[in-house]
Amino acid sequence: QKAEWQKLKDQPSVTADGKKFLIAANIGTPNDMEGVKANGAEAVGLYRTEFLYMDSKDFPSEDDQFEAYKAVIEGMDGKPVVIRTMDIGGDKHLDYWDLPDEMNPFLGVRAIRLSLKNKEIFRTQLRALLRASAYGKLCIMFPMIGTLDELHQAKALLKEVHDELTKEGVKIGDYQVGMMIEVPAAAILADQFAKEVDFFSIGTNDLIQYTMAADRGNDNVSYLYQPYNPSVLRLIKHTIDSAHKAGIWVGMCGEAAGDSTMFPILLSMGLDEYSMSATSILRIRSEMKKINTKDLEGLADKAINESTTNEDNEKLVADFMAKYS
Ligand code: PEP
Ligand code: MG
Repeated sequence: QKAEWQKLKDQPSVTADGKKFLIAANIGTPNDMEGVKANGAEAVGLYRTEFLYMDSKDFPSEDDQFEAYKAVIEGMDGKPVVIRTMDIGGDKHLDYWDLPDEMNPFLGVRAIRLSLKNKEIFRTQLRALLRASAYGKLCIMFPMIGTLDELHQAKALLKEVHDELTKEGVKIGDYQVGMMIEVPAAAILADQFAKEVDFFSIGTNDLIQYTMAADRGNDNVSYLYQPYNPSVLRLIKHTIDSAHKAGIWVGMCGEAAGDSTMFPILLSMGLDEYSMSATSILRIRSEMKKINTKDLEGLADKAINESTTNEDNEKLVADFMAKYS
C-alpha cells in the first residue's frame, strides 16, 4: 500500500472524476521541509511559528525570523506558504516571558489576544513576515480570531508595518491575509469575516474543543472530543459556504483534515485545501483518487441534518466508502 501511495508523490490531488484540490503540509520549523518534499505537498498550509519562540532562549530577532520564514517560502519554489503568527499561551509557554497565571489558559490571553496586547513583539514578527514575502507566495494567517475588532486591529498593524517598510525602501511581495476559524464565534459569523480576508483555514483542534467545551488534552473528557459531531460539522459547512459566497478560498489545518472519516464529508462540502502532517498526505491523495464527486451529493446534508451523533457519521462515511472497496 505504501508503495502504491509513493507513486502519487509528484501527482496532482484529483478525484476520480478529475476535480482538483490542494493537499498541503503542516510544519513547525524549517527543518520539517524535508518531509514536506518527500511526501509531495502542494503547499505549506500551516507553519506554526510559535516553535521559533519556544526553541530559543529569548525572543527571536527580526532577522532570525526573516531567515526562517524565507527558508520555508523559498523552499516551496513559488507554491503557497501559510505562515501563522505566533500562537503562544494556552499550553504553550516561554521561559523568558513571564505572563500572569490564569485560571483557564485556553480561554485566556492566547494567540492573537497575546499579540495584540504586546504590539512591539507582534510588530517584529510582522516585519519579518513582510520582508520574507518577496521570496515566494506568502499567506499570512492570524490565529484564534474571535471578533471582527481583533481582525481589524491585526490588519491595521499589518498595514502600518507595510507602510513603514515601504518607506524604508524594503521590497515586499504580493501576499494574502487570512485567519483561522477555530473559535465558534468566528465560525458562526464566517459570512461577516469572509468579506475582510483573502482566505480562511479551519482549525479543528481548537474548534472541536471550544464547540464541545472539552479540553483537547484532557483524557477524562476525550469522549466529548467529537470531530464528526453534527454541531461541529455545521460550523465547518457554514464556514465553507460563507467563504465561497464571498469568493475566497478555504482550507483546514487541524488534525481532521488528514482524517479518513472526515475527508469525504469535507470533500462533499467543497473544502478547497487540506493541510495535514506530511506523513498523511499520500494516504489522503490516494483516497481522493477513489472518490467520484457525483457520489458525494447529499452526503454533507445527511451528516449535518440526519445524523445526530459522532457515531452516526462514522457509519455514514464507512457505508459511503464501502462502494469503492
Ligand atoms: C487547530 O486548532 O486546529 C490548529 C491547527 O492550531 P493548533 O493545533 O496549533 O492549536
Ligand atoms: Mg489552534
